[in-house]
Amino acid sequence: MVVGVHRPTQLVIDRQALRENICAEVNRLEGDCELFMVVKANGYGHGAIQVAQAAKDAGASGFCVAILDEALELRAAGFNEPILILGVTEPADAPLMAREKISATVAATDWLIDADRYLALAKEDQPLRVHLGLDTGMGRIGFRTPATLKTGIDFMGSNADHILFEGIFTHFSTADDPDDAYFKKQVANWQKLVGSLKKRPRYVHVSNSATSLWHAACNDNLVRFGVAGYGLNPSGTAIAEPYPLQPAMSLTSQLVHCKELQPGDSVSYGATYTAQQAEWVGTVPIGYADGYERRLQGFHVLVDGQACEIIGRVCMDQLMVRLPKEYHRGTKVTLVGRDGAAAISLQDIADYCGTIHYEIACGFTSRLPRYYL
Ligand code: PLP
Repeated sequence: MVVGVHRPTQLVIDRQALRENICAEVNRLEGDCELFMVVKANGYGHGAIQVAQAAKDAGASGFCVAILDEALELRAAGFNEPILILGVTEPADAPLMAREKISATVAATDWLIDADRYLALAKEDQPLRVHLGLDTGMGRIGFRTPATLKTGIDFMGSNADHILFEGIFTHFSTADDPDDAYFKKQVANWQKLVGSLKKRPRYVHVSNSATSLWHAACNDNLVRFGVAGYGLNPSGTAIAEPYPLQPAMSLTSQLVHCKELQPGDSVSYGATYTAQQAEWVGTVPIGYADGYERRLQGFHVLVDGQACEIIGRVCMDQLMVRLPKEYHRGTKVTLVGRDGAAAISLQDIADYCGTIHYEIACGFTSRLPRYYL
């Protein structure tokens, strides 16, 4: 997809906000605990490379991504820090990950056996760094019992020339929930599994943003810090932030057209909106192809700092808003962020769409240029 640099619609990313959020968390960590910034999905839509640099400047000592290509993007950009891939990779890529010193998450022993064959054939100088994923209740990937975990650890022990047991971790599914009953169950499962280890690897970790913000006692020696680094409360609004998080992402545009409708005139596909009286309507050059969802009909944007309703269906590339008066072409439109006393957050959009701010941030497509403050 081309990047729309000739259109006045853009995401603006505040790197100072990123740095301050991450630095605040680094400063709260105790002992030898490190912070790896999670920059998967293009840094939650904020730009993986720029976020990685801001995170490094703020004290992050490594990165987490979801897929191998995201890790390779960081290496190609010159980042030499540890990188952990959180998802399951292809065993055939084990030699490539070993060469690039990219750590793989391993969820089952058969993966290790397959990867070991590729590593033996490739004769890499470097061993493959492995973090064992434990499924303590997320139900996604990982070892679930001490017996299966032992099989994996024993296999690594007898193939130590190819495989380095670098880390062990789990992921909590309800760390952002005010009700901590299930969280405690997962912690107990984790302790049982980790308690069965004869030797701890270099990294032992359980914490995403929510765990580190609200259950920091669990952190051990590494935090996988994602959404809070971007300035977003992992719980939405359910639990108060222990320190103020600063949202790093804004989305702005301009009016490209303004007209006065007469009673009975309709707007957009399906003619779902019809003016009841004479009213001014502006057109904003953004639509669902940019990740600004069609479901946002009836929501609002800020025009010149005032909330204006989105009327009619959101089109692929344009949407229309009802204005309090005539405005010039070029008037500023804020779709996410602050204008004067008014603000629209990713959480407001997520609430309207019935989803979470993570999905809204990641959903903005590459057609939107990202500008960095
Ligand atoms: N760790 C794992 C395994 C994840 O899957 C994720 C995100 O999905 C994170 C850490 C970061 O989570 P958050 O963005 O909530 O901090």
